[in-house]
Amino acid sequence: MSLHKSFKKKQLKGNEEGYESEYEDSDEAELTPGESEDDDFTGRKRRQRRVIISELTDFTNFEWSVGYRFPNREEFRKAVAKYAVIQGKNLTFTSSNKNRGQRLEVKCLTSCPFRLYGSWDSRRAYFVLKTVSGTHTCTRNMLKNRQLKSRWMASQFLEIFKNRPHWPAKEIQETVRRAYRVLIKKDLAYKVKYHAHQMLHGSMKEHYNKLGSYIRTLKDASPHSVINLVNNPIQRGPEPVFQRIFVCFDGIKKGWIEGCRKVLCVACFLKTFLGGQLLAAIGRDANDQMYPVAWAVVEGENNDSWHWFITELQRSLELGDGSHLAIISDEHQSILGAVTNILPSAEHRHCARHIFAHWHKDFKGDEMKMIFWRAAKAYNLTDYNEALEERES
Ligand SMILES: [Zn+2]
Repeated sequence: MSLHKSFKKKQLKGNEEGYESEYEDSDEAELTPGESEDDDFTGRKRRQRRVIISELTDFTNFEWSVGYRFPNREEFRKAVAKYAVIQGKNLTFTSSNKNRGQRLEVKCLTSCPFRLYGSWDSRRAYFVLKTVSGTHTCTRNMLKNRQLKSRWMASQFLEIFKNRPHWPAKEIQETVRRAYRVLIKKDLAYKVKYHAHQMLHGSMKEHYNKLGSYIRTLKDASPHSVINLVNNPIQRGPEPVFQRIFVCFDGIKKGWIEGCRKVLCVACFLKTFLGGQLLAAIGRDANDQMYPVAWAVVEGENNDSWHWFITELQRSLELGDGSHLAIISDEHQSILGAVTNILPSAEHRHCARHIFAHWHKDFKGDEMKMIFWRAAKAYNLTDYNEALEERES
């Protein structure tokens, strides 16, 4: 590594931008065969290694050299940050206020002499590494790397987040440990996840801001659709805060009333990234296929939200007291309570899959599975009891 001799600043005549350039004295590096010479505007031939470094450079066994170029200061910063992470160095950046945007100095720990200094070369329109000094005397710190930032990690793991939006924090920590040999804390792993989701889905706030115009457009196109947006009554501010939305399209509603058996499965799916939950009512059409009827996004699964959802459902689908209707749900207490209160005459049955999940804990094997479904699908008491007896034997 060479210490750059021209760190003493030198004012170039006629430099309109008025900042100094060390370029005149810059690295007169020996050209290795095949490297080109660079002709400057004065007609003088000067030798300059044209190595362009970016975030994509392999930094595993990388060493810095004066004259390395970067498209701009930000790219220089990114490349140094990547180098710091890959080689496990705790680097920091400093730039004087006066020359902000044009220069950048890189320091290692106070006990380590390693320094880099780069500045913008306006003539060549490149950010150039002007000084490399000191060799690292520091050792890898497994507990901290200043350049290992949550946003950067999110961008590195974006492909994984695309396939696994709910990638557990523990696994993120483990992946970071293996990739960068740093033990990150759980809250940093959550930050990584947050940034990844922001990158993948855009800012959540922006999305919620679009709800108003989305609802207006839906209402214009289909005036009889039921769309009910509820704002949070507690979190009041200059802008309303989302609490719940219920959606039941007019066409779907008519289709269910006219063409489907009066069965509704109420289910609670998907924990979304912001912690809310999706409630859905699903019917069965004449072909025995799933027929989504209405859905809602709520703050969480609780008595109040289920009560609200079932009320909206009753109103939209004109369910009355629930006569001639069968509801199928899991055994969540909030659903049981809401259905009893709002649709007292409805038949309320538990979802067989949920029962099976419980049953399966004690009775394992494919044979037990068959017996279970024979009991579940029995059309009369004799068949049902027979299946249960078989289970006992
Ligand atoms: Zn160091």
